[in-house]
Amino acid sequence: MYLLGNPVFLGNKMCQNEGFLLTIAPPMKLLLSTALLAFCASQPQAAALPKVDSAMLLEQIGTLASDEFEGRAPGTRGEEQTVEYLQQQFKKLGLEPGNPDGTYLQAVPLVGISSHPTLSYGDKQLKFGDDYVAWTARPQPTVEISNSELVFVGYGVQAPEFKWDDYKGADLKGKTLVMLINDPPLPDPRRPHQLDASVFGGSAVTWYGRWNYKFEIAARLGAAAALIVHETKAAGYPYEVVVNGWGRENFALNSKTPEPYLPAMAGWLQQDRACELFKAAGLDFKELKQRAAARDFKPVPLGIKLNLSAVNATREVTSHNVVARIAGSDPQLKNEVVVYSAHWDHFGIDETLPGPRTQQIFHGAVDNASGVAALLQIAQAYKALPAAPKRTILFVATTAEERGLLGAQHYVRHPLYPIAKTILNINIDGMNLWGRARDVELSGMGKSTADEIVTALAAKQGRVVKPNSNGSYYRGDQLEFARAGVPTIYLRSSSAKALNYMTHQYHTVNDVVQANWNTAGAVEDISLLFQAGYQAAQAKEAPKWKPGAEFQRH
Ligand SMILES: [Zn+2]
Repeated sequence: MYLLGNPVFLGNKMCQNEGFLLTIAPPMKLLLSTALLAFCASQPQAAALPKVDSAMLLEQIGTLASDEFEGRAPGTRGEEQTVEYLQQQFKKLGLEPGNPDGTYLQAVPLVGISSHPTLSYGDKQLKFGDDYVAWTARPQPTVEISNSELVFVGYGVQAPEFKWDDYKGADLKGKTLVMLINDPPLPDPRRPHQLDASVFGGSAVTWYGRWNYKFEIAARLGAAAALIVHETKAAGYPYEVVVNGWGRENFALNSKTPEPYLPAMAGWLQQDRACELFKAAGLDFKELKQRAAARDFKPVPLGIKLNLSAVNATREVTSHNVVARIAGSDPQLKNEVVVYSAHWDHFGIDETLPGPRTQQIFHGAVDNASGVAALLQIAQAYKALPAAPKRTILFVATTAEERGLLGAQHYVRHPLYPIAKTILNINIDGMNLWGRARDVELSGMGKSTADEIVTALAAKQGRVVKPNSNGSYYRGDQLEFARAGVPTIYLRSSSAKALNYMTHQYHTVNDVVQANWNTAGAVEDISLLFQAGYQAAQAKEAPKWKPGAEFQRH
């Protein structure tokens, strides 16, 4: 049995009777809670708290983060081990195959592209790396953009909810857009030295401020290429991060159709080189930047043509999402789906690192062996329910998150169940293994009514939900579900120890299983995530985007 002593009731206050239930013996509680559920049939129903098996959780993390799994890089022996292990675990738990073809797998075709670009305008040739980075998602030997007109489009934002449009209907087909990073900074009319919190999230970076949005809209407008001017403060990271991130092999979904999220070439311009480009056009970067921070800004053609091309080396890799499901029990609602996701992949092995083999392996114990183990625990909790939830629950262990959320991206582009009927994504990335934490950081808080489920459940645990302010919402698999229009839940416990992990171990070979881990916090979060999905699966109404949320289905 996976029932702890205290079933938690949600929804109608009339149906909340925990105090009473707590005073009786466990077997009776089950009967009574069933009776109460029948009584409150029209209300979001209660789910008993799962008994999370801490020993098993640690064992699963230990297995996934072992030397044998070789750092779980997509397309390697590490993938084979991981995918095999996850299939076995889902089978053992008694979950059905998640793919309607009767398997636990969804193939994800990837392509690694190493580009050698050249960029010039007029008689000026820029140096790849020092001056700019550029890449392509097109798996072809060469990509060539010649004589493409350069147009400065300010922040490159089209946000009807803020009555903002930097493009003003300009025809940008085949052109190269030069854009600023971050959101347009609008001062608060009452406190001019502060940003207006009612537009573009105030000081927090919104979707419109992020590079992936800017490249996506450039592609949507038919631009041939887009170059973002790198400014350290506005980007939040130095230029070296850009070079390290995009200056080597980049991965994309391997598809015959052009990547809809990227123009043929995308890149960043080093700030001084951008200033020189504007100067060559007889313009002043600072002055243009100021002009871009107003609603009446219009695209500014630079009167300069750009040549940008890339010679590419490609390698194809087939990777896999591992999928399992619990079919819904309601004849109607079973066609709707709650998707739990957690990425199984990590960075593999770096043989250039010094020391023995084990020190060359990126074990990714917290990131994200822990999240995958949590996914398995949640699957087990659902399986232990006396009856399956009304809606279908799908568990997706995604691949290639670390390569740019590609497993999740492939899933939403080729969903196994209609995306329009997918009511919620709960993504799990990195569990709290440092003891109980009072604070729950909810990414993307304020965007959908799913927040309310989390806030109520956390309160029952005596915890406080706070918005995450470091933009993590836009850096995990939940983003791909949100972009496809699905409301999401992605949370993390916040504590000094979690911060210490982020500073010293995250994305390094030091992210390994630690002897001093304390699973109390992870257990609480697993309970919360299980309950949240269960409540959504039972509720009359699916979670909805709030007005002004940027990912609303139109
Ligand atoms: Zn990671």
